[in-house]
Parts: sequence; C-alpha cells; structure tokens
Amino acid sequence: RDHQGLLEVRNVEALYGQAILAVRDVSLEVREGSVVALLGANGAGKTTTLKAISNLLGPARGRVSRGEILWQGESVGNLSASELVARGIVQVLEGRHVFPQLTVEENILSGGFVRRPSRIDLKDSLEKVYTWFPRLRDKRTTKAGLTSGGEQQMVAIGRALMTRPKLVLLDEPSMGLAPIIVQEIFEIIRSLNTESGVSFLIAEQNANLALRYAHHAYILETGRVALSGTAEELSTRDDVHDFYLGGS
Ligand code: ATP
Repeated sequence: RDHQGLLEVRNVEALYGQAILAVRDVSLEVREGSVVALLGANGAGKTTTLKAISNLLGPARGRVSRGEILWQGESVGNLSASELVARGIVQVLEGRHVFPQLTVEENILSGGFVRRPSRIDLKDSLEKVYTWFPRLRDKRTTKAGLTSGGEQQMVAIGRALMTRPKLVLLDEPSMGLAPIIVQEIFEIIRSLNTESGVSFLIAEQNANLALRYAHHAYILETGRVALSGTAEELSTRDDVHDFYLGGS
C-alpha cells in the first residue's frame, strides 16, 4: 500500500521545567493508514513524545523547546489539544483515565462532544464503537470503574474513536493487562487500521508485541531515536533482539 505522509516530527526537543530534557532529538513519521510503534525502556521519552505531538505537555509543565511538528504538511506546534482533535489527532493517555462513576456508554459518549455533533451523528459513532468493541455493548450500563482493566482500555480507545480521528496516539495500551486481553486489543487496533484506515502511533514497552502489529518502529533511548526501520527489519535483527527486546 502507498502510505502518504500524515504526521512528521522533526528534531523535537522537550523540556520539563527549565532543565529536565525528556526528549533530546526525536524525528519520526507516520504515514497515512499505517501503524507505527514507539519503543524504548521506561523513561526513554515515549510519553513525552506523544504529549509533545498532541500538545498535552502543558499540564505537566513541559514544553517543546525545539523542532517542528507537521500534520499533513502544515506546522501544528501552536495548536491546542482540542484544535488538534478537530484536525484528526487524538491521544489515549497511559493508565486509561475513565470516569469511574459514569457508565461505559456515558464514558464513550463523552468523547463525542468535542466535535459538537448532531444526535444522529453521535448515535452512529457510538454504534461503530460497539461494532469494534462488542464487549462494551454488553457492559454499556455498567459503571466504568467496575469493569476490568482491559475493558477500561477499550473504553478509553472507544472514547477517542468518537472524535473520528485520522491518527490515534496510544500510550502503553498493554500496561497492567493480561496477555490475552492485550492481544484482543491489538487485534482490534489492526482491524481498525485495515478496515477503517485509522493510523496509530503506539508507545509500548512490550516491543515484541508491538512489532507484531506495527508496520514501522522507532526505538528511543534517553530521548533520542536510537534505531528505526520497518517492523520486519527490526524484529529480525539480532542486535535489536539482544539490546532492546530482552533477547527473547
Ligand atoms: P514511561 O514508560 O515511564 O512512560 P517514557 O518512555 O514514556 O516512560 P517519559 O515519561 O516520556 O518516558 O519520561 C522521559 C523523562 O522525562 C524521564 O526521565 C522522566 O523522569 C522525565 N519526566 C517525565 N514526566 C515528567 C514531569 N512531569 N516532570 C519532570 N520530569 C518528567
């Protein structure tokens, strides 16, 4: 398939406060219709990179101090997170952050209002989310706080899909979840990508897993891209295996 450039991150540096350099120099590209993995150990700068793209660093007193972020060829570094959502970029935060007292359906619907949609539009988007995540339809009247970790991750993704994104930034979707559930979630991501053309940039510590689902991957090390390539290339290189994938 021919993937056109969607997102381009050029030499981005990001700081927390005055001096904590969380991202030193990151350049990466997400082409339309692709799944890209952002790999690296704890603290390598994955979360900071995603938040730099979606302009969510502010609340943690972080900022992009150098470099450029392009969306479909246009510089978007000065757009707010909600303006970026309107353009088609949405982030699913690490740790899910569902509203525990609201039902599964209320949580999903909360993602839809960003676009000021009509009621029909909202219903249609909700139906689509239930088609992707049949489990959520079964649990739609359950308080989100009472669902499993895997279901909460699905709610978080479903809520993001309500904004009808072109690109979803997913932070550590496997965190704290049983392997069987993680696989179920990644299979849904793959179908969303192949059937709906939604692109994904997925930060993952579980590199072996992410490389099975990604087209392309970047490996971060102390805030820099140490290696990048197609998922196939990276997963078959011995050095990558030994140094970054735990040798297993
Ligand atoms: P994780 O898997 O823990 O999310 P990560 O690869 O996503 O790791 P980041 O969370 O981006 O890494 O962190 C990169 C660096 O920035 C780390 O050294 C971290 O301690 C630091 N850092 C992250 N958030 C903040 C913050 N709000 N204030 C100060 N330093 C921070």
